[in-house]
Amino acid sequence: MKYISTRGQAPELTFEEAMLTGLARDGGLYLPAEIPVMLQDEIAALAGLPYEEIAFRVMWPYVSGSFGEDEFKEIIARAYQVFGHDARAPLKQLNENHFLLELFHGPTLAFKDFAMQLIGQLFQVALKRRGDRVTIVGATSGDTGSAAIEAFRGLDAVDVFILYPHGRVSEVQRRQMTTPADSNVHALAVDGDFDDCQAALKDMFNDFDFRDEVKLAGVNSINFARVLAQIVYYFSAAVSLGAPHRKVSFTVPTGNFGDIFAGYLAKRMGLPIDRLVVATNQNDILHRCLSGEGYFKGDTIPSISPSMDIQVSSNFERALYYAYGEDGSAVAQLMDELKTGGFNVSQGAMQALRESFDSGRVSEDETLATIKHTLANSAELVCPHTAVGIKVAEEQRRADVPMITLATAHPAKFPAAVEEASGVHPPLPSRMSDLYERPERVTRIANDLGTLEDHIRRHIAE
Ligand SMILES: *Cc1c(COP(=O)(O)O)cnc(C)c1O
Repeated sequence: MKYISTRGQAPELTFEEAMLTGLARDGGLYLPAEIPVMLQDEIAALAGLPYEEIAFRVMWPYVSGSFGEDEFKEIIARAYQVFGHDARAPLKQLNENHFLLELFHGPTLAFKDFAMQLIGQLFQVALKRRGDRVTIVGATSGDTGSAAIEAFRGLDAVDVFILYPHGRVSEVQRRQMTTPADSNVHALAVDGDFDDCQAALKDMFNDFDFRDEVKLAGVNSINFARVLAQIVYYFSAAVSLGAPHRKVSFTVPTGNFGDIFAGYLAKRMGLPIDRLVVATNQNDILHRCLSGEGYFKGDTIPSISPSMDIQVSSNFERALYYAYGEDGSAVAQLMDELKTGGFNVSQGAMQALRESFDSGRVSEDETLATIKHTLANSAELVCPHTAVGIKVAEEQRRADVPMITLATAHPAKFPAAVEEASGVHPPLPSRMSDLYERPERVTRIANDLGTLEDHIRRHIAE
């Protein structure tokens, strides 16, 4: 499989090259040149298989030129063996036709472990084979950073630097980033918000001298390998509810559009998904855009679902690429307009987006109320991001199609909001109950490209 850029100006790469590169050199995002399609029989045959086997069958066409069959099976096995649930992504029933897909049984209690654990193993195998090392820099609104640090800690071919917005992540998120003692992982608390961190990361990738000097690699959700790993649980969930013989819909708490874009690819691969519903908090650029109001940046307002406090949704570029009929130059022009505030989406592209996506927005009060009534009515204690999804799903689900809401994090990752809403303090799973006692290690740093690059240069391979 070859990989192409959404802006049409970067060289085609293999899966391994696209994974190790992250952002394309024309500023675009990599996508497979063709989306592989699974036959209905092949989808039906997934029912009842272990998660790892479903993962292999769904992802294999995307990686087959870069990894061997047995090698890839072993990578998958190592990636998910650390999960705290045999099903990896178990499905729970909330009421008659509404289900919760629990994606928080990985080592850092959020769905990002699904992709990050896999990418850590993929990087290790690929770099070992090449005799190479890389510097991974990531920006996080909280969960990506902890998942990346957990996935890459202790690997000798990799240094990891994670930029997070100082004071804007939960204490559990922060401690998961600052307490690992491995010398190859570095937490950087940036004076700014998540969009500042993401912009600094993009600037580093566009500074080609720095990029080459430190062998920069990215594992943010722009990395196609991240998206790929997330396609799998759409399949595992849908077949367990009767796909391909029955349609299902998904509601996805959304920030950077990575998780829901994986659902879009699952649909294009042949999975009978009826609706893909984007659920946003008060940072609602995606909901405004899908409502026909154009894609215009606002200020990021901190919320109780901080992993979705995002105003520039980087993976949306991938959806736009398909909505604009795979026209890279049209996408490049939109992204130019975004630099000065935003753009209107053409009528044809809006129609294409509406064929797959619906959207809804949830206020802070509604989020708290949803945590409370989900506990009362379904005996499930959910995190604020998941509550945003549940609220939108309840508004938009149709009687005849099962709705699956993605539970993106464990409630114990956001204890303050959960306790405020429900009166119940969500305990950490026992395997990480000493998190509050471990010493922290973090560098507070200015939101300045030169300062950041200098810090990274000085701390590689310490
Ligand atoms: C990252 C994250 C999201 C948003 O996912 P995207 O792929 O950025 O849309 C939602 N909830 C939680 C808990 C997250 O960590």
